[in-house]
Amino acid sequence: MSMLEQLTHRDRVFDFLAPVASPVDVRHGPILYMEGVNVSFDGFKAINNLNLTVDDGELRCIIGPNGAGKTTMMDIITGKTRPDTGSVWFGSRHNLLTKNEPDIASLGIGRKFQKPTVFEALTVFENLELAMAADKRILPTLTAVMKPEYRDRIDEVLETINLAAIGNRLAGILSHGQKQWLEIGMLLIQKPDLLMLDEPVAGMSVAERKKTAELLRVITRDHTVLVIEHDMQFVGDIADRVTVMHQGKVLSEGSIDHVKQDPKVIEVYLGH
Ligand code: ADP
Ligand code: MG
Repeated sequence: MSMLEQLTHRDRVFDFLAPVASPVDVRHGPILYMEGVNVSFDGFKAINNLNLTVDDGELRCIIGPNGAGKTTMMDIITGKTRPDTGSVWFGSRHNLLTKNEPDIASLGIGRKFQKPTVFEALTVFENLELAMAADKRILPTLTAVMKPEYRDRIDEVLETINLAAIGNRLAGILSHGQKQWLEIGMLLIQKPDLLMLDEPVAGMSVAERKKTAELLRVITRDHTVLVIEHDMQFVGDIADRVTVMHQGKVLSEGSIDHVKQDPKVIEVYLGH
């Protein structure tokens, strides 16, 4: 893919003229509230009366066998998939079912897909610069000469994602794990209130997994984080609470020890 194609591929980069949304309101309740959500694909119920709430500041892990509906749940939150019925709220102010994908993203919901999609022909720093330019709150003041505060913010994110020493390298030469961290950094630049990651450690080495666990704990100091993950060791290392999904609904929820001992979970998930 050419650089121009890569740039235009990310339509959010050019979608900067929309007004800035009001902030998420979590004073009286959770940051994410899903109730009675149903989605069918050709008559197959992928999401079946799903109820899920996530508190502000939590690091929540979602686990469950393949086909449980985990990714579909994220698709619903981000506006990619519209449920047949149910409610989905971001804080107490934003009804997500009335909004489209770019609007939901600009409300402060960042999502990372499993496959990294960094711009390989740009440097690590430039990737973060580009992510910053996609931020509607910043772009109007982002000029040809970069303001020191923006540079500082990029440097800060580079530190957080452990790439400060290689900010000048092309993203294309990074390891798989480093690309994943860079993409997390591109989300962090935009300061989302809710960050969602779908299988962030898939394909990573043991050392990279350990570093990613540390990174997510750091990120959770300032953000609410929702992580879909299969690696139980990893989930046990990072999660405040774990939600086990099965057949489109919540099967069990609680601490990692609680769900690991739940006979329903052992039967459908850990037993396999
Ligand atoms: P998970 O992420 O937990 O593995 P998914 O949410 O990807 O599960 O999928 C849940 C179920 O819905 C699966 O049976 C999958 O085949 C089906 N599904 C997901 N997306 C679509 C779609 N766009 N069209 C048809 N079926 C889909
Ligand atoms: Mg999935």
